[in-house]
Amino acid sequence: MVGIRLVEVSKVYGRVRAVDHVTLEVRDGELFTILGPSGCGKTTLLRIVAGFEVPEEGRVYFGEEDVTFVKPYARGTAMVFQNYALWPHMTVFENVAYGLKVRRKQLKLTDEDIERKVREALRLVRLEGMEDRYPLQLSGGQQQRVALARALVVEPRVLLLDEPLSNLDAKLRLQMREEIRRIQTELKITALYVTHDQEEAMSLADRIAVMNRGRVHQVGPPKEVYSRPRDLFVATFIGRSTLLRGRVLEVTGSKAKIRVDGTVIEGNVAHGYSMREGDSVVAIMRPEDFSVTEPLDNVIEGTVELAMFIGMFNQLRIDVGGQKIVAYTDPGIELQPGSRVKLYIRASDVNIYPSTGWEEEE
Ligand code: ATP
Repeated sequence: MVGIRLVEVSKVYGRVRAVDHVTLEVRDGELFTILGPSGCGKTTLLRIVAGFEVPEEGRVYFGEEDVTFVKPYARGTAMVFQNYALWPHMTVFENVAYGLKVRRKQLKLTDEDIERKVREALRLVRLEGMEDRYPLQLSGGQQQRVALARALVVEPRVLLLDEPLSNLDAKLRLQMREEIRRIQTELKITALYVTHDQEEAMSLADRIAVMNRGRVHQVGPPKEVYSRPRDLFVATFIGRSTLLRGRVLEVTGSKAKIRVDGTVIEGNVAHGYSMREGDSVVAIMRPEDFSVTEPLDNVIEGTVELAMFIGMFNQLRIDVGGQKIVAYTDPGIELQPGSRVKLYIRASDVNIYPSTGWEEEE
């Protein structure tokens, strides 16, 4: 197994910079997800790692080896696709055995070796007993397990997965998510996993890279990316967020006080930024971090515009001096539209960013 390193990699299609100077490292044995909206370049990045695309600029390394110009079949990668891409005329066994059969001379494999390896791969994905079925006789989830077994049977150095669960229904997706994590942990294989589904990316990954318009905005463990978004794109793309615009009153170290209408709010200056008194800023908060009952560092007063029961909590839309924020609160507390409410939030749960260049994406 090896780690993957991309250094200043770019790929251009006509006028589109699909991948724009991307530098990142996937550690040996790590499950790394790339998350981003449609068209952000994640599939192109995966295809560059697989060798299906050669970047115009930059280098790709597997361990110490520069593989930028190495042909896909010689890289020791295996890929799992969204649409499974199984051979319909081959049985499960034949599909999984295929990659070994074409390499049998090179790998000096006997029929017994192939049989043993295929059975082991099918055991890993829990498909024993299905060897003689054809893909069309399997459910979507089972077909994706075959695709996974087919990728794993060749013992790749790197496993690449391109939205592997997107064609499955919600329940199967959850099951397969667990399966992929179990298998990856068991094999300790370096895995690069592309998805636009943030829950999937967060729950699976050791670390996650958030991409937009060809660029990597942030890399880190899911919790860190969620609670300390590096910039406004990540803050608004990951999870639900709600924001208030204001001006800086005072900066003390990594903390700032800002004025929003008549209210003073304290929060963290987002990592890597500096700001001064009078600067125009955006405070980003998570709707679930508000409380209406527990007094916390900040109190934001507003008028309830909308209160909706949505299961685990009430969703409130609150008008704060003309700006709207969303808060999730305890469903036991009834709040009527038109009533005044005090929302409490910890200073540590407020992240403040300069508003320069920020266009509201609402
Ligand atoms: P999705 O989730 O929709 O698959 P993505 O994040 O995987 O999107 P890519 O498929 O990598 O995005 O595409 C990134 C950009 O490059 C898009 O603007 C896309 O239209 C463009 N692009 C990708 N492949 C090609 C190609 N072969 N020729 C021209 N443009 C391409």
